[in-house]
Amino acid sequence: MNVPFAEKLNSRISSDGSHDAGDCPWRGELRYDEPLRDHTSWRVGGPADRFYLPADRDDLILILRSLPAEEPLFWLGLGSNLLVRDGGIRGTVISTRNRLKELRHTDNGRVYAEAGVPCAHVARFYAERNLAGAEFLAGIPGTMGGALAMNAGAFGGETWNLVARVWTVDRPGAVRCREAREYRVGYRSVEGSDGEWFLACELIPGGDDVSGRERIRELLARRNATQPTHLPSCGSVFRNPPGDHAARLIESAGLKGYSLGGAQVSEKHANFIVNTGTATAAEIETLIGRVRETVLRVHGVSLETEVRIVGEKTRRTKTTP
Ligand SMILES: Cc1cc2nc3c(=O)[nH]c(=O)nc-3n(C[C@H](O)[C@H](O)[C@H](O)COP(=O)(O)OP(=O)(O)OC[C@H]3O[C@@H](n4cnc5c(N)ncnc54)[C@H](O)[C@@H]3O)c2cc1C
Repeated sequence: MNVPFAEKLNSRISSDGSHDAGDCPWRGELRYDEPLRDHTSWRVGGPADRFYLPADRDDLILILRSLPAEEPLFWLGLGSNLLVRDGGIRGTVISTRNRLKELRHTDNGRVYAEAGVPCAHVARFYAERNLAGAEFLAGIPGTMGGALAMNAGAFGGETWNLVARVWTVDRPGAVRCREAREYRVGYRSVEGSDGEWFLACELIPGGDDVSGRERIRELLARRNATQPTHLPSCGSVFRNPPGDHAARLIESAGLKGYSLGGAQVSEKHANFIVNTGTATAAEIETLIGRVRETVLRVHGVSLETEVRIVGEKTRRTKTTP
């Protein structure tokens, strides 16, 4: 099913993967069978058939317009909230890592950030200009696109509390500007524009505050003290159930330190599963299932995952041209 697209792309790239700018409209970087473990914070995940790093926003829109309708598409930020299975992802993965990284003040006194800007850069941008409200983003190791998709939050702050409007693109490449009020936003959930991805956002500064840098240092120190930041993970695996904490439920079910192959429930924070070095996605997924079953049996609470689990369990033959 992907062959026509692959052929179309193959006709425009040389064997080392580079494009011939002469006859190729795309300026980004196309890779085949790209190991997604290199693009996820858990350091696991099989290959993407095709992996595209757009040159910029216009290039991204152009490639979306050229994709055949049947080509499966997946968007990847910094892969810090994803469990990509060992069989990888079929179709094309669009990666915004190090791409779409414009970050600036707007004429109306707001902050414009493209989807690929790391959350930490936004926190720093605010703090350097004595703007309040984005300190919580400093410790979130994802992009603004991922933060918009997840409504990422920490220490009482949430991404969408800052958002005035966003720019999205749909599958055929049409760009829209949408106001924040068009979305239904909740705890780690955002609904309102199915079939569209975030290109950029405009954020509202929360007033003057000269203590932003100090507050960022404080919040990062709190993270280091309570989270296993030295080992690969995806942050919190489960959402907190109403009125409780997933970490408390997991710890009191006796699961802290419980391991399966290279995947382990962190000794430091029970809602983190860490890769101790050799974990596979299958081991992590099985461990997630065991934790969920045990918490249900012991506490009668059914935990929901915050991390998104994507891709195929088994590999198929290579798609490299
Ligand atoms: C050590 C650690 C600590 C963490 N702490 C926190 C925390 O305090 N609070 C918190 O909320 N999260 C936390 N996380 C989880 C994660 O960093 C956030 O969910 C982050 O927002 C994910 O961003 P990303 O760019 O890595 O997204 P990815 O993991 O790449 O993608 C996540 C989802 O967003 C979608 N997506 C990505 N980009 C776009 C786009 N441009 N448009 C539409 N959809 C898109 C993807 O398709 C996927 O479904 C932590 C993770 C780690 C590893």
